Amino acid sequence: MNKDFESSEISADDRDDSKHFDESEQNDESAECPFCGATNESCKHLIACFGVSEAGIVSGILVDHQDELIDLMNGRSEGYEAASDIEDVIATLRAFLEQHAEVDWADFSVDEENGIWDYASYWARYPGMVIDELYRHLEAQASEY
Ligand SMILES: [Zn+2]
Repeated sequence: MNKDFESSEISADDRDDSKHFDESEQNDESAECPFCGATNESCKHLIACFGVSEAGIVSGILVDHQDELIDLMNGRSEGYEAASDIEDVIATLRAFLEQHAEVDWADFSVDEENGIWDYASYWARYPGMVIDELYRHLEAQASEY
């Protein structure tokens, strides 16, 4: 019906959309998953990436379990400092993961503005199973005291 109005709408589509979809430059920033090759959040195998230079759980499934794990470890001995030393927690987690047959890990460094930071990532094909075993391991330890 109103032909003039319709044709005037069409020409606005002529702009050049930016085509910056090149994500291949970030690969040095992280270690590659041995199961899927991903270096980012899309990987479903990452149990945890631990900060080594500054102790902490940086990413991975265990990030969501951090408080729970600290509570569990605090419960394993009377008189253990309530404000648990995160370095002890991480040392315990790493020791468990490194003796686990299904777990692969890699140490890597990231060159940041304020220095080089060391990290360690741990993966498993079925991380849920490993985390389940981790909980059972820690609960067993907690009940010994
Ligand atoms: Zn993966």
